[in-house]
Amino acid sequence: MTAPYNFSAGPAMLPRAVLERAQEELRSWRGSGISVMEISHRDPAFVQMAQKAEQDLRALMAIPENYQVLFMHGGGRGQFTAVPQNIAAANDTVDYLDTGVWSEFAIREAGKFVAKVNVVGGAIDTAKGRAIAPTETWALSPNAAYFHYCPNETVDGVALHQIPQHPSAPLVADMSSSILSEPLAVEKFGVLYAGAQKNIGPSGFAIAIVRDDLLGRAQANTSTIMDYTVQAKERSMYNTPNTWAWYLSGLVFEWLQEQGGVAAMGQKNQRKADLLYNYIDSSDYYRNPVHPDYRSKMNVPFLLADATRDDAFLAAAEQQGLLGLKGHRFVGGMRASIYNAMPLEGVVALVDFMREFEQKHT
Ligand SMILES: *Cc1c(COP(=O)(O)O)cnc(C)c1O
Repeated sequence: MTAPYNFSAGPAMLPRAVLERAQEELRSWRGSGISVMEISHRDPAFVQMAQKAEQDLRALMAIPENYQVLFMHGGGRGQFTAVPQNIAAANDTVDYLDTGVWSEFAIREAGKFVAKVNVVGGAIDTAKGRAIAPTETWALSPNAAYFHYCPNETVDGVALHQIPQHPSAPLVADMSSSILSEPLAVEKFGVLYAGAQKNIGPSGFAIAIVRDDLLGRAQANTSTIMDYTVQAKERSMYNTPNTWAWYLSGLVFEWLQEQGGVAAMGQKNQRKADLLYNYIDSSDYYRNPVHPDYRSKMNVPFLLADATRDDAFLAAAEQQGLLGLKGHRFVGGMRASIYNAMPLEGVVALVDFMREFEQKHT
């Protein structure tokens, strides 16, 4: 595979093989003469495809039987509202870890639906960079309805690599930018969710994986399309699902199986991240602001020693086919997102480019 390589944080790169297959099937899905976007979601062929996508995801993630897999509307942020409405009562306290930008949006949203959002702790600045406060300092509530955290902060490039524990509350995780990137012990969670556009498929779509005992608790005024219990009962077809996104996500799951599943992806992702961080650490021209123990394997922010060269860096990168490297508007600098679909060669090309740019400008 050759450039362009798309380092966009999301919507992000999709595997080329998946795009090619979607292109081949676009105008005539399974010989029907019409597109998968043009058929009923109740059509037996569509239902069969949709259920296979769920089965493939279950197999990839080793999702236990006592979890529902829901294909939802509204992306990652839709789940920021779905979680408190579905598994907490209006007078409940909920615990949130605040590790960065996305945690903060989730906290603000939860505050609309529950009596108290207790922020237990979060990101801290240390001599070695941005980190997360040690677990023993977290102020967990004894009566929290759930404990929410974001294992991979897409904007900040900060990750929590261990699964945290709460003495009493079910664990809820926003895995929008880390789902399927490595093996995961799903059984440790009450709810896992992800907007699709980082590691799965098109935007506007989300996957929620919900343990059965957390169903049946939705607040009375929960929007029906966001109600986990209704969507579980209706197999995510209470209303018309995003059929195109579901189809494309299914192709990505098949592609992941062909790649050897999440264990193989995890090894490949580790190699990609090591290559990029090792180069950044070896250079005086680039800097990553995150403590080595808390660095994301998916989103690598970096700063140039001379920020007045940022625009020149981005323009030169784009000329080489290295796209989407501009950092988030909240933090500036650069960010390379290296999700599952990014091949190792893309990261090699990026590091080669960064080295050349450094040599020219120092
Ligand atoms: C992108 C992202 C979101 C928001 O997703 P939308 O689909 O735009 O609502 C939430 N959480 C994390 C961790 C993300 O990376």
